[in-house]
Amino acid sequence: MIVVMKDNAREQDINKVIARIKELGYTPHPSQGVEKMIIGIIGIHNREELIESLGAYQGIDKMIPIMEPYKLAGRTFKNENTTIKIGDKVTIGGQNIVLIAGPCAIESEEQVISTARAVKAGGAQILRGGAFKPRTSPYSFQGLQEEGLKMMKRAAAATDLQVITEVVDPRDVELVGKYADIYQIGARNMQNFLLLRELGKTKKPVMLKRGPSATYEEFLMAAEYIMSEGNYNVILCERGIRTFEGYTRNTLDLVSIPVLKKLSHLPVVVDPSHGTGKWDLVEPAAKGAVAMDADGLMIEVHPEPYKALSDGQQSLKFDKFNEMVTQLRAIATTVGRGL
Ligand code: PEP
Ligand code: MN
Repeated sequence: MIVVMKDNAREQDINKVIARIKELGYTPHPSQGVEKMIIGIIGIHNREELIESLGAYQGIDKMIPIMEPYKLAGRTFKNENTTIKIGDKVTIGGQNIVLIAGPCAIESEEQVISTARAVKAGGAQILRGGAFKPRTSPYSFQGLQEEGLKMMKRAAAATDLQVITEVVDPRDVELVGKYADIYQIGARNMQNFLLLRELGKTKKPVMLKRGPSATYEEFLMAAEYIMSEGNYNVILCERGIRTFEGYTRNTLDLVSIPVLKKLSHLPVVVDPSHGTGKWDLVEPAAKGAVAMDADGLMIEVHPEPYKALSDGQQSLKFDKFNEMVTQLRAIATTVGRGL
């Protein structure tokens, strides 16, 4: 249920309502909109008891139930688009489309610094790179772990980029948090509820990748796990789903962009690299994503893709990345966005 406060509700009235909700044993989720304050009461609750207990409080305009299973992630709770600040220069979900680029995995100091320089010059604002790699095979390269995180942080500092990197284990949240500006939850972990809850307890932005077989509702429910713990800085990432088609690595579902934006106020980023699995399909898929109003793109870039320790076949060379961004800019302008 949500409690909608009146436009002119005083702070002391809001605080009294919040205190009463806590007294009744519920967790209030206040959200200050442009016009009014809304307080979400999430979880199992007795509606009649709540309406009776809060009915006489001053400053309340109305109380409405949220019909969707995703409460905090849905538009009923918050109608305005969520914008997420990363550092002091980057905003995801605003007017500008944000480019996140870098190697699949951090492999060496030289590899990450050269890639950071190249993607920065090409217009990226956030450096991606895995140090803990959730590989399909336990025998594949698993990542350089903390050494890799250190290399990545140095490269990002030298190029003034923000850092996004994946955390796969709830026990590593603190360690990864020392280096990351955004936590990435990989597709394979979308329903790792312990990990989701752990990241929900932090304040740091989280980019949640869609599970390979997740419906929109399951995807939003995974976001809800993070938000229900108090961290509302969630970015959704469409990275393709598994279908009967074997030509591409995954089937990139671009319609998820308008659907997710209709159902939710959270920003949507698209990953055409994992979404297609083939470098020559990355540009057309990225163009489609920009045309369909994605708030950001995540692109794998490598200095020598044929030598990459993971995902070389879907990684762009530096000049190809540059070329692609030039083309994307024209589309962004057409749809009224900056890039
Ligand atoms: C990644 O982005 O590094 C990655 C492993 O992607 P996904 O979780 O979407 O497979
Ligand atoms: Mn990859």
